[in-house]
Amino acid sequence: VSTKLPKVGTTVFSVMSRLAQEHRALNLGQGFPDFDPPEPLREAVSRAMAAGCNQYAPGIGLAPLREEIARKTARLYGRTPDPEREITVTSGATEALFCAIAALVRAGDEVIVFDPAYDSYEPAIELAGAQAVHLPLDPPAFGVDWTRVRAAITPRTRMIITNSPHNPSGAVWSAADLEALAETVRDTDIVVLADEVYEHIVYDGALHQSVLRHPELAARSIVISSFGKTYHCTGWKVGYAVAPAALSAEFRKVHQYVTFCTFHPAQAAFAEFLAAAPEHYLGLPAFYQARRDRFRALLAPSRFKLLPVAGGYFQLVDYAAIRDVDDVAFCEWLVREAGVAAIPLTPFYAQAPGTRLIRLCFAKSDATLEAAAERLRRL
Ligand code: PMP
Ligand code: GLN
Repeated sequence: VSTKLPKVGTTVFSVMSRLAQEHRALNLGQGFPDFDPPEPLREAVSRAMAAGCNQYAPGIGLAPLREEIARKTARLYGRTPDPEREITVTSGATEALFCAIAALVRAGDEVIVFDPAYDSYEPAIELAGAQAVHLPLDPPAFGVDWTRVRAAITPRTRMIITNSPHNPSGAVWSAADLEALAETVRDTDIVVLADEVYEHIVYDGALHQSVLRHPELAARSIVISSFGKTYHCTGWKVGYAVAPAALSAEFRKVHQYVTFCTFHPAQAAFAEFLAAAPEHYLGLPAFYQARRDRFRALLAPSRFKLLPVAGGYFQLVDYAAIRDVDDVAFCEWLVREAGVAAIPLTPFYAQAPGTRLIRLCFAKSDATLEAAAERLRRL
């Protein structure tokens, strides 16, 4: 067949999870917790099903859930989106990212993407007939070079995709980054697509710099989050998009024909749990910081060099002292020889970076982290 996506194969997350299963490896590759969501949340889903929440939900999401999202956004970022016109519940952040790009990017447009970038952005841009313009984030800090961003803007630039906390590097934006972004897009019609799925996972007392804190940016941004990350339930696939009414209206035109609506029982459960237990997301930084610190301490005696992690639940490590091969080859060797699955960085780039870095997910139980670190220390 004549393919629309000649550069796309099977996503690295499927490839590595399958290899992990084949080799019965400990899977620190694909990003998901190996522990369950809170029990009251699981019970709330069952209760919602028993109570008859089994048919289509409203396309834009259950009203009580959108109201809770508005309340949470006001509490954390000082801005109250209108649940009726500015919040849309989606089937995971992946669906929201796709809908935002499909709705707003036209053929011939340019979209600025920072590499390493989450792998779902580029195919959506290509399907829209647009061009991704890749700008590098350099290790070890993976910060944005705003001079380069300004130089990359053309009359065709339609969108900038941001991602803080950043997958895979764990870098987080400062307030100065928000200000630089605002200056960069001022007097243009560029839309910001802010992938903030790790919004609640920021360490060392730092604040998540949501674009929603910045009124000028909030007025031109679609902000995306994922309950999968926040509530340890990546398999439920529920997320949401917050955007001004005019952008939300365009977003909803696509969303209604991609999925129409999202899994109804989970929406009812999230509405209930968000209202009853805000301490869950407030406690998430400490919860994951303990895991980050524990994992780093376990790996400190190994020959891997640990890069800093300011947010999210991934640890980048440099393996140059262990083998002199590219990152894809190293991950294939690692899963076979050490029984640990990791993610190479190359699939996050338009052009292979030539670095010796791989990504390890530490959203895992102590037992998994200890067993994996023991294997990694032997190399
Ligand atoms: N964006 C980033 C940066 C992610 O890491 C992920 C999940 N790994 C997603 C989007 C997709 O989130 P969801 O599972 O809710 O579709
Ligand atoms: N976002 C997850 C990660 O970065 C994977 C999600 C997926 O498998 N598509 O590992």
